Amino acid sequence: MKVQTQRAFNFNAGPSALPISVLEKAQAELIDFRGTGMSVMELSHRSSTYEEVHNQAINSLKLLLSIPDQYEVLFLQGGASLQFSMIPMNFLQQGKKAGYVMTGSWSEKALSEAKLFGDVFQAASTKEEGSYRSIPKVGDLKFNSDDAYLHLTSNNTIYGTQWTDFPDTGDVPLIADMSSDILSKPIDVNKFALIYAGAQKNLGPSGVTVVIIRKDLLEQANTNIPTMLKYSTHAKNNSLYNTPPTFGIYMLGEVLNWAREIGGLTAIAEQNETKAKLIYDAIDTSNGFYHGHAEPDSRSLMNLTFNLKSKELEKSFLELAKQEGFVGINGHRSIGGCRVSAYNAVPIDACKAFSEFMVEFQKKN
Ligand SMILES: *Cc1c(COP(=O)(O)O)cnc(C)c1O
Repeated sequence: MKVQTQRAFNFNAGPSALPISVLEKAQAELIDFRGTGMSVMELSHRSSTYEEVHNQAINSLKLLLSIPDQYEVLFLQGGASLQFSMIPMNFLQQGKKAGYVMTGSWSEKALSEAKLFGDVFQAASTKEEGSYRSIPKVGDLKFNSDDAYLHLTSNNTIYGTQWTDFPDTGDVPLIADMSSDILSKPIDVNKFALIYAGAQKNLGPSGVTVVIIRKDLLEQANTNIPTMLKYSTHAKNNSLYNTPPTFGIYMLGEVLNWAREIGGLTAIAEQNETKAKLIYDAIDTSNGFYHGHAEPDSRSLMNLTFNLKSKELEKSFLELAKQEGFVGINGHRSIGGCRVSAYNAVPIDACKAFSEFMVEFQKKN
């Protein structure tokens, strides 16, 4: 049944699957990186060889996402979780308020960090109307034209919902946590003042956090904060103020090269739609045997969440899935159920195999 003999059907939510060709290239280059006689991990981060790797990764991301010139691409550490703090530290000015759109656990974490620094409010929440099953309508967001910024989570990794269109916020900077759907489809970067993403879902291994930030925002930032936590420090130094996570950035660059080779974001988006359809079709044609957590119009193409009729059935489904070699199907520990994470590097064949497994399981039960 397996696609490649030694590769698992990896549906992990993060860290998650990486493209096999990227792993093979890293393996081939590991001991002697491009004639240096050392691995990329052993290079000085001030060497021209490393600098080339670093700048290529930045440029590839700019090309793939069509990032305009007035934006900086930064490689930071501390995960998306540190961004929850850095954003309000830098951009929540005294006397202003920051709006948070609440669509799941990650929005909650972002909001509670921001509370430590200033005034915040909920611009919308889909918690009450059924535990984060949906994305609010763009027109229902409440915010004011003098707010410090508006924050949203573009894909809700745990609940399995995803934004399809983003609000026009005018002069209010729009900030998005895109950790779990960056690079999954084309987006209009111009709508955002800041985009951030931990790398370990669609971009590469954990340890690198990508930040795409509009340059004018850098000038408006608060100044009385630690050097390492200022975006401007990293922007001024091309993300080489201190030692960056060099191996992670190298891997990220290779994942971006792979994404370009397979046709860029339009091709990737098509693949992701095909993959998600395989699983959602198995849910929708099951006559209620499987039921999706997300409202159909808010469904994520990255994290597909569903439940079975009873806890017992769910348990035996998850056990059998594991036995059959499907890894990572258990829902997040906070909400249970089942979750298929079908990030960019998960092959169509893996989704096909899992959707067949779902149909088979239903027949037998
Ligand atoms: C995984 C994830 C995070 C947390 O990322 P870390 O890099 O582990 O801090 C935050 N937001 C979203 C949407 C995520 O999917």
